[in-house]
Amino acid sequence: MNCMKQSRLLMPTLREVPADAEAVSHQLLVRGGFIRQNAAGIYSYLPLGHKVLHNIQTIIREEMNRAGAQELLMPAIQPAELWEETGRWGIYGPELMRLTDRHDRRFALGATHEELITSIVRDELNSYKKLPMNLYQIQTKYRDERRPRFGLLRGREFLMKDAYSFHATQEDLDEEYTNMYNAYSRIFDRTGLKYRPVVADSGAIGGKDTHEFQALADIGEDTIVYTDTSNYAANIEMAETLDRYEMQQADVRPLEKVDTEENRTIEDVAAFLNVDPKTTIKSVLFNVDGETVMAIVRGDHEANEVKVKNALGGLDIQLEEEAKIVELFNCAPGTLGPINAPVKVVADYAVKYLVDAVCGANEANTHYTGVNAARDLAEMTYHDLRFVVEGDLAPDESGPVRFARGIEVGQVFKLGTRYSEAMGATFLNEEGRAEPLIMGCYGIGVSRTLSAIVEQHHDDRGIVWPRNVAPFDLHLIAINAKDETQVELANRLYEELGQTYDVLFDDRKERAGVKFADADLIGLPIRVNVGKKAGEGIVEVKVRATGEVIETSIDELKEVIASKFSEVH
Ligand code: ATP
Ligand code: MG
Repeated sequence: MNCMKQSRLLMPTLREVPADAEAVSHQLLVRGGFIRQNAAGIYSYLPLGHKVLHNIQTIIREEMNRAGAQELLMPAIQPAELWEETGRWGIYGPELMRLTDRHDRRFALGATHEELITSIVRDELNSYKKLPMNLYQIQTKYRDERRPRFGLLRGREFLMKDAYSFHATQEDLDEEYTNMYNAYSRIFDRTGLKYRPVVADSGAIGGKDTHEFQALADIGEDTIVYTDTSNYAANIEMAETLDRYEMQQADVRPLEKVDTEENRTIEDVAAFLNVDPKTTIKSVLFNVDGETVMAIVRGDHEANEVKVKNALGGLDIQLEEEAKIVELFNCAPGTLGPINAPVKVVADYAVKYLVDAVCGANEANTHYTGVNAARDLAEMTYHDLRFVVEGDLAPDESGPVRFARGIEVGQVFKLGTRYSEAMGATFLNEEGRAEPLIMGCYGIGVSRTLSAIVEQHHDDRGIVWPRNVAPFDLHLIAINAKDETQVELANRLYEELGQTYDVLFDDRKERAGVKFADADLIGLPIRVNVGKKAGEGIVEVKVRATGEVIETSIDELKEVIASKFSEVH
């Protein structure tokens, strides 16, 4: 087993909360001596942190191997030419860390490995006879994140498990996607995380079907939309709204331009005209792949840019720049609207049901009243473009949706042929004809998972590790390291328990209070205290998660420990 005396372990615990650490997991991992920061978003894993990271990797390897995937290891340094083949050298932007060698050849530090794996497979895998194949690695990734934060949750250097699968047919990819989805469920179950797989957007990486595995935690940057009444769950970016609204109850009136003075926001305009924001139209200008587009939603709703992008079949979307808007409309944002707009307009379903509404008139200080969608927006195409709100009916119609925060710990993607076509990665099918390989890719944030576990498993005294990932199973403490009887018994137990368990032995000549505080902070599942009753052969077993304390004779110690381990996760 893997045992260690604490007097020799590099485990620099701190009593103070580090000033820069906002997230609980960040605070506890630094205080517990698991990690140290070397630069923004760049960390060293000290021995305890390294052990946890190792345990998570073992779970991942076991489940990936069991699912039929093969492990390999690719370089972190990748030639720019590969990224140019897919166009991502340009698209990826400043997040991709780039460098040149002494011959001025350009390289990227791998942010992800689609290009590299595709180049290997292009050269080495040519026949349908070798398909399907799933290759994975656990490797350091580099992304120059705009805002590295929350410790390991968003690093600039981090550990990822990335897998890539190759197929002859779409059905075969579908099968592997389910296989990976199930493997991920087993992996996250074993790490002790509470998580939900959610429908997600495939983003700039391309592809179609995708699920994110979201660990539930308030610090999470993603909003998950789910129901209590079914297993529906989606990232808010993608969570659908249904085309089901009541017609606005109002008389049809003529379109009329009115002076709305300096009022620009929906709230101000609605208050000024004394109307409900639900009867106004909000116009938001986006730039989708270089083209300016207007998305309109009801005044009380928010436009969802992922949905706008997808409705237009775009790849990249950003809010349009004000200068560009002024150039096109001859008028600043605040009084823009769909009627006679000089750009393409797409509308959310809810707008279709407006009968007497207000929208900007594309003139300074001017709005239209009496807007009737059926009459004034007759050419409009309607889509689901808005963000869901809590209480909306779920798309499976099972009931109202609720929101929770999540940390994306993993993601499974159906990539299709985007990379294989761009890079000419083909195989010969049964008829001997070349076809592009159909691909899937599957990522897990290994270091992020470590932090997510701590976000979910801690109390005000420290971390409470689930057994499967804990750096050691048992924390053996000689309460008074100057008492020979205690030290002798503790040493004996260290030998004996070490046959079955990974034991950390606190043999330091420290006060009991210091030892207990450190033990609570680093959070091993079960502690064995050797104290005053050592002479009578009696020790204390303490369960970290529940605080339960059991006094036991050393004869029964092993049984007590085994039974407590069967109770803790
Ligand atoms: P995010 O949306 O959080 O930036 P992503 O969707 O860009 O992540 P992927 O490209 O899907 O990330 O990478 C696979 C996995 O790697 C993610 O599911 C996540 O767990 C992890 N990951 C991504 N970026 C980071 C990071 N900066 N630090 C730590 N882990 C990360
Ligand atoms: Mg992702």
